[in-house]
Amino acid sequence: MKAKSFLRASSLEEAYKLVKESPRNKIVAGGLWLKKGNADVDTLIDLSLLGLDKIEDKKDYVEVGAMVSQRELEKSPLIPEVIREATKSIMGPAFREIATIGGSVYGKYGFSDIVTVLLAHHVELVFYPEAVITLDEYVKKPGFYDGILTNMRIFKDKNKAYFKKVEITALDYPILNVAVVKGKEYKVVVGSRPLVAALCENSMKYLNEGGKDFAHAAELAVEELKFGDSIATKSSYRKQLALTYVRRALEEVSK
Ligand SMILES: Cc1cc2nc3c(=O)[nH]c(=O)nc-3n(C[C@H](O)[C@H](O)[C@H](O)COP(=O)(O)OP(=O)(O)OC[C@H]3O[C@@H](n4cnc5c(N)ncnc54)[C@H](O)[C@@H]3O)c2cc1C
Repeated sequence: MKAKSFLRASSLEEAYKLVKESPRNKIVAGGLWLKKGNADVDTLIDLSLLGLDKIEDKKDYVEVGAMVSQRELEKSPLIPEVIREATKSIMGPAFREIATIGGSVYGKYGFSDIVTVLLAHHVELVFYPEAVITLDEYVKKPGFYDGILTNMRIFKDKNKAYFKKVEITALDYPILNVAVVKGKEYKVVVGSRPLVAALCENSMKYLNEGGKDFAHAAELAVEELKFGDSIATKSSYRKQLALTYVRRALEEVSK
């Protein structure tokens, strides 16, 4: 990536004005993913002076600023254990000190551990200037929202949760992710197929209507989602993994 200039924004308004001015002006968070690409950027817009680096208890939900690092998230006692564990599975601590939650969620990467585990929770995204949408809506929406992601709200819910990252070697990208939460209802998510994580609606309907056959629920999940090939592995292997880990996840959260 090459950038002509760098601006540390002094307000969201200033940052948003620049984003709207040209698609060649880009928000930079941790910059780790941006740096991997070969985009030509006019202005990199940094949000680090805008107070978006806090994790706060807001009674019904925990609010996580977009500039909170993965490392801060995994260390915070306000964050559900399963989300902390999934975050810890990404690269090493030095990497996670730099990578941000905003960059991770906004990018909705096909290999994202974080999006997989968050999708199994009730999560809302707050964008400047004025949108609040669920993570599920954001993930399903084609393309990217053109505002600035300022915060994420993780709603509180008593639940049992499971997360599995399957990778070929430690520190690798996942070849499959599974997250299952049993709170008021079941939520079943499969990610890294290698497409971005998705809720398994048919499987969840079966379980939330009282279905108890977890192997069948896993089959429904595999039938309803698309799986693809990548350099790392084939779709047929991903499907086998999903059958096993969705069933196992359901057994775990139902104990
Ligand atoms: C080598 C490598 C290995 C990785 N391995 C994994 C892995 O195994 N599992 C996993 O889940 N993730 C993995 N990731 C992704 C990583 O965890 C982060 O999600 C990623 O680096 C983005 O975070 P960042 O802070 O670096 O964002 P940046 O690179 O700064 O930004 C990413 C994108 O988001 C936009 N953006 C950032 N913040 C905002 C905002 N607030 N509002 C609007 N747009 C915004 C930027 O303009 C850019 O387009 C990997 C990344 C790298 C580079």
